[in-house]
Amino acid sequence: MPEVPEVPTHCPYCALQCGTRLAPRDGGAAGVRPSPDFPVNQGGLCQKGWTAPTVLTTPDRLTTPLVRDAAGTLVPTGWDTALDLVAERLRALRDAYGPDAVGVFGGGGLTNEKAYLLGKFARVALGTSQIDYNGRFCMSSAATAGNAAFGVDRGLPFPVTDLGDADVILLAGANPADTMPPLMRHLGRAALVVIDPRRTATAERAALHLQPAPGTDLALALGLLHLAVVEGLVDTAYVAARTAGFDAARQRAMAWWPERVERVTGVPVAELREAVALLAGAGRAYVLTGRGAEQHSKGTDTAAAFVNLALALGLPGRPGSGYGCLTGQGNGQGGREHGQKADQLPGYRMITDPAAREHVAGVWGVPADSLPGPGRGAYELLDALGTPDGPKALLVFGSNPAVSAPRAGHVSERLAALDLLVVADFVPSETARTADVVLPVTQWAEEEGTMTNLEGRVLRRRRALPPPTGVRTDLEVLQGLAVRLGQPADRFPSAPRTVFEELRRASRGGRADYAGISYDRLDAGEALHWPCPAEEHPGTPRLFLDRFAHPDGRARFAAVEHRDAAESPGGRFPLYATTGRSPAHYQSGAQTRRVPELTAAAPEAYVEIHPDTARRAGLDEGALARISSARGSTLARVRLVGTLRTDTVFLPFHFPAEGRANLLTSDALDPRSGMPEFKVCAVRVEPCGTP
Ligand code: SF4
Repeated sequence: MPEVPEVPTHCPYCALQCGTRLAPRDGGAAGVRPSPDFPVNQGGLCQKGWTAPTVLTTPDRLTTPLVRDAAGTLVPTGWDTALDLVAERLRALRDAYGPDAVGVFGGGGLTNEKAYLLGKFARVALGTSQIDYNGRFCMSSAATAGNAAFGVDRGLPFPVTDLGDADVILLAGANPADTMPPLMRHLGRAALVVIDPRRTATAERAALHLQPAPGTDLALALGLLHLAVVEGLVDTAYVAARTAGFDAARQRAMAWWPERVERVTGVPVAELREAVALLAGAGRAYVLTGRGAEQHSKGTDTAAAFVNLALALGLPGRPGSGYGCLTGQGNGQGGREHGQKADQLPGYRMITDPAAREHVAGVWGVPADSLPGPGRGAYELLDALGTPDGPKALLVFGSNPAVSAPRAGHVSERLAALDLLVVADFVPSETARTADVVLPVTQWAEEEGTMTNLEGRVLRRRRALPPPTGVRTDLEVLQGLAVRLGQPADRFPSAPRTVFEELRRASRGGRADYAGISYDRLDAGEALHWPCPAEEHPGTPRLFLDRFAHPDGRARFAAVEHRDAAESPGGRFPLYATTGRSPAHYQSGAQTRRVPELTAAAPEAYVEIHPDTARRAGLDEGALARISSARGSTLARVRLVGTLRTDTVFLPFHFPAEGRANLLTSDALDPRSGMPEFKVCAVRVEPCGTP
């Protein structure tokens, strides 16, 4: 038997985008092993990566379009029938209510090509402003803070491998030991300072773990800056030469003396002092934020406060040091650059910028004044569905908001209020099961394209297997719909390479410039980080070494102030609830809940709770608990965790139905980023069955 050649590609899950090699096997299956030569994972994979091929042959794989019949049942149909029906109903709604009657909801796991064509489809074929994506729920606060501080937002403005030389790394609300295990091989040399209300697997490895009350990271960051100032640790030469706005930020921080910070956060003054001393005393140091610091109604200001700290210590742009955000979703970086965000056009351009509109409209071959303006952010879009002023139809690509959106019970009601819900997916996700039309699409190992990982490094996703008979690519679906809506087919190409060539032109001169990146260069093995403005340009692994991206070259401090979370424990809801991830699952769990090894590790919804808190609530290990907030209640199996704060419970958000953690979460939004407050709400916990 001749040996089947392996296909180099990348894991379908998180933003680390670990390199893998796939070997096709009989029956549409594939074997996977880590690429030994990809510098990010260096031969490592987590349990999700090792088992990723299982989803390719999951027994409930969608392989034929489904349309809901008069009896309310989803029944199989042909592609032409399904696409004709969708186009006809979209046209009718648009004619009756105007173009904004149709909404589009994308995903941070879509390839760059899909994200790009989805944004173009919304603005050109539908003419709607109502497009956003689930990345709004992921890293939008850090992106907003990063753009304001540095003039550009790239999660890590340096390669992951640089972290391997660090002396100290401060991780604020990030738990890579559970969520991105291969990243830990780059953190092994550094002393870690971890800020997290939970004693996570990452905190276990830390030199210092600060355990603040949920929702108080901003006060903590202000307190760290305060100490840096009063103890003379600010890099005054760097601040003078490379930044602007320090005095205003310093003044805010001066009100956060250590004892006040201890009172608000619960973190002892001695630990605050130790954290600042460790960070400031390091030759090479990084400040990294994750969702724990960012998923708040003050998430942008919290990320900005950690940027302030890094700037005061002279870290960003200094070789071997810096600030970064650990982007979460697989294409969380690329997904926010190519135009599926409500306020953006390709190249990370703002849709309100007349020059950006002219440029992109020119590439698209349409008048600039035909492009709609900014639409609603993700939660506002979902909240408006089926209302008199909101969209009457929604097209969902690569997302499962019935599980992953905040206040999920309400979001499910809004989805049910639509005249038309269309979901393109490869498995019957919880959102797909409620749709009027389901369109079966290819998944990672069956398609070509590019992804951009958390370092801004553009990667080739390669087709290793033929897709099952009956499925189409998302690009083919968009082309099919666009043509039925009166667009020329060549305006919506379905070949990924052709779409990428257009994306390059559209991004030229933008903040995320891909003009010099090509499939040929990537296939030749070049490591290309954007910006890469020309074919002969080597790409930019490290940003900010000489200047920041603002016109004057200086980074900006932000004068931020702490404020309370939208709700605090008390009365009927005496505990904090905070949500996050289980090591075994990814996002809404639509993929990983179909992998037996992963469901064996985490089969059902669970709640972590301190033994003393559990005892007071009448709960034992393994009991079924009802957790309730002002928005609803969820059921979860009790796990006693002695290192958790006694005032806090933790729930992973991957589980469906009555186990949805997001039945509890708040729809309080960050006013600048639109990020919901996933990380803090007030709950009570009681044995299941309590009325
Ligand atoms: Fe996949 Fe992320 Fe795990 Fe790497 S760390 S194998 S990219 S899920």
